[in-house]
Amino acid sequence: MINGSTSGSVSQHIGPVRTCIGCRTRTLPSELLRVVAIDGSVVPDVGKRLPGRGAWLHFDLECLRNAERRRAFSRALRVQGSLDVALLREHLEQQGTLASGQPRGQQATRKQVDPS
Ligand SMILES: [Zn+2]
Repeated sequence: MINGSTSGSVSQHIGPVRTCIGCRTRTLPSELLRVVAIDGSVVPDVGKRLPGRGAWLHFDLECLRNAERRRAFSRALRVQGSLDVALLREHLEQQGTLASGQPRGQQATRKQVDPS
């Protein structure tokens, strides 16, 4: 005999969860970075207290790329048109370089020739 009251109700009281707009994983807000749109740019809301509509993203450039590809920022932040993610990417790159020294994409290794 299956008792209806005991089955089907798995306790999921882990508090509010947010969805990363890059990989669509649901997790705690402390695992994610809140971003808001200001003047057509996606800005990292480090203090989590900027006004307006926010979106949530992992501290991960891969998630940023996924979100960009599917235009998740415009959709999540209710913004018409495209958003500039340069500030956000910079922020994530800084976080990333602290963890693993990623090589910069375009590094000008030009030899300086002294004319004298
Ligand atoms: Zn993610």
